[in-house]
Amino acid sequence: MPSPPTHSSSTPDLASYDLLAPQLSGGNDSAVMMAVFMEAASTGGVADRVISYHSSLGVLEWPPVVFDGICYPGVSELAALQSAAFGVPADRHLEVTRTMPGPDGTRMPHSLLTEIAAYGRFPRMGSPYCRKSAKESVVSAAWTPIVDRLKRELGRPVRILKVMGLRSDEVPDRKKRPAFRTVQVNGARVVDEWLPVKDWSTAAVKEWHADAPVPYAWTYDSVPGAGDWSGTSRCSCSLCVFASKRDVLLSISRRPRLADLYAEVERVRGDSFRADWRITDLIRHAEQGGAPDPGVVCPDDGPEFTALTKQVRAALEKEPRKEPELARRVGRPLCDGCTVHS
Ligand code: SF4
Repeated sequence: MPSPPTHSSSTPDLASYDLLAPQLSGGNDSAVMMAVFMEAASTGGVADRVISYHSSLGVLEWPPVVFDGICYPGVSELAALQSAAFGVPADRHLEVTRTMPGPDGTRMPHSLLTEIAAYGRFPRMGSPYCRKSAKESVVSAAWTPIVDRLKRELGRPVRILKVMGLRSDEVPDRKKRPAFRTVQVNGARVVDEWLPVKDWSTAAVKEWHADAPVPYAWTYDSVPGAGDWSGTSRCSCSLCVFASKRDVLLSISRRPRLADLYAEVERVRGDSFRADWRITDLIRHAEQGGAPDPGVVCPDDGPEFTALTKQVRAALEKEPRKEPELARRVGRPLCDGCTVHS
């Protein structure tokens, strides 16, 4: 395995935590983070305190695909593989997701797109509620049973280290985020956050993956297995409101049925997918040949997709929680009926 760059951020005292909780998105940065973090946990003799978490976005995240007779794993499976590859037993890797009451009194997944439809507006830079709603609060809730038990045993607040694969190179606001900080303190828990690969460059991450013990997500390539990193530059929600225009266009081509469902939310609620682009226009642009070659197209025709569609449409039949006048934003004016400029 390649060595990490020498400019890696310094390691906190891992032995001072009761729970070490890496959060795996299943993307390429997660794998690198897990390698660096687990080496530190093993060196510190505290690998047995690790429980890894993947906050699943369900149908919205990149699914597994079969291409040329080979099955390429989806994001959730990759997160589990990343955890196992660096020594975490399968029963200490937890996939968690936001849920809502189901028809028979059980819980069922509550998709982020349903939440967007119910709220009435898409997440924005100044209000990225999707991260909290679909990821941070879901993992934090998953800690509660452990916190309740350990607090009783220890007689003090439980110390948790949340470990994430965020890097400065990804987006400008990540540069300002410290590599280590305390994010929550109350009578039950003290949560610190550590970004061990914050200073890794994108080139270093790709180089590391050339000889990594886990595959990276197929969506990073032009076609699954190509190894050219010419697909989407990021990998979480297939259609991320913070992604680059190229990424969104490629994702639309790879998941046209999912893109149509986002467009339905956009049309009914009147808020554009992004402040500057409507997904409706991006879809039209992609259909007119303005998107990169998808390489592979996801059918999105399974029962989970049907359930998502029903759930989203049910949310759209109700009044939005956000005042429509406050929520409503339209994309930039179109040129010849299209907001997209290549
Ligand atoms: S991938 Fe994008 S849209 Fe999805 S939760 Fe993360 S920031 Fe929000």
